[in-house]
Amino acid sequence: MLDKDIERVLVSPEEIHAAVVRLGAQLTQDYRGKEVVVVGILRGAAVFMADIVREMDIYLDIDFMDVSSYGEETESSGEVKIIKDLDTRLEGRHVLVVEDIIDTGRTLNYLVELFKYRKAASVKVCTLLDKPERRIVKNLIPDYVGLEVPNEFVVGYGLDFKQKYRNLPYIGVLKPEVYQ
Ligand code: 5GP
Ligand code: MG
Ligand code: MG
Repeated sequence: MLDKDIERVLVSPEEIHAAVVRLGAQLTQDYRGKEVVVVGILRGAAVFMADIVREMDIYLDIDFMDVSSYGEETESSGEVKIIKDLDTRLEGRHVLVVEDIIDTGRTLNYLVELFKYRKAASVKVCTLLDKPERRIVKNLIPDYVGLEVPNEFVVGYGLDFKQKYRNLPYIGVLKPEVYQ
């Protein structure tokens, strides 16, 4: 039913799964023996988060943060409002931030600085998708990237358009008429 709104599939469920397995194996290696807190950024990262932690064969804590970025609908401003903060103390712990997509990089840049200020032992970023063409915060280089996507607005596998399409099992581009 939702398929009728999709112009084209950019990343298939199989390609997503392969990326998740690859990242999970790398993260398992890199974080073995460390006190890690995996922080998912709501709501977009919820689906990816559920899959990636099940590929990490280590002891870990899970927490979520909900933020909204002020600005126009299509681009974040960098001024971030915390809707729901973490319940976990980060001092001395290794933080792995899990995001759906990095676009301008402003949201994550704010969060990385915040977690450093809270005295995390390290802060690293794992994003399913990266849109490097759109980066404004040039020094925000994600440590773990699932896939690079072109400069197009994508939905599915957690990513929304007006809160819909998060439950698509693939990542795709909407038909232009859906925007109108
Ligand atoms: P940034 O601060 O990097 O510009 O914004 C990142 C956030 O904007 C993402 O976490 C995501 O919620 C949203 N975003 C950026 N690009 C897209 C996109 O192509 N599709 C969707 N659905 N959300 C996007
Ligand atoms: Mg997000
Ligand atoms: Mg959104």
